[in-house]
Amino acid sequence: MNDLSDLYQEIIMDHRRNPRNEGLPADHTHTADGFNPFCGDKVSVAVKIEDGSIIDVGFSGEGCAISMASASLMTEAVSGKSIDDATASFEAFRKLLTDGDTSGGVDLGDLEALAGVRAYPTRIKCAILSWHTFKSALENDSAPVTTE
Ligand code: ZN
Repeated sequence: MNDLSDLYQEIIMDHRRNPRNEGLPADHTHTADGFNPFCGDKVSVAVKIEDGSIIDVGFSGEGCAISMASASLMTEAVSGKSIDDATASFEAFRKLLTDGDTSGGVDLGDLEALAGVRAYPTRIKCAILSWHTFKSALENDSAPVTTE
């Protein structure tokens, strides 16, 4: 079990140090901003959608290691997916964080590295922030997202 959590720790630190898809695509079609007042994490997510698929996605922001690693992991998880599949990943990831349930039939891949935050309810907000912001961007909801 320790080996697994070391591996997960490594994935999180790798995404923290080398964020994927950092920066908002200039030609994005959807965008939203998110804020987690409990930790001070801020994230903006921009998405380019064409024909119901996410063809480009990026984020910018500042915050704790969990929030930034999660944003990086999120962009990797949804890039190239249809909106339906990306929404299914969001639901599966939320389930993983809230009840540790991975039975949703969605392969979460490296996102499972964040499963450990389940033990720390305040960190769940850090991990889910970028996903809520992504979801809000899809819906083109202009109200800022808050985890409060
Ligand atoms: Zn945080």
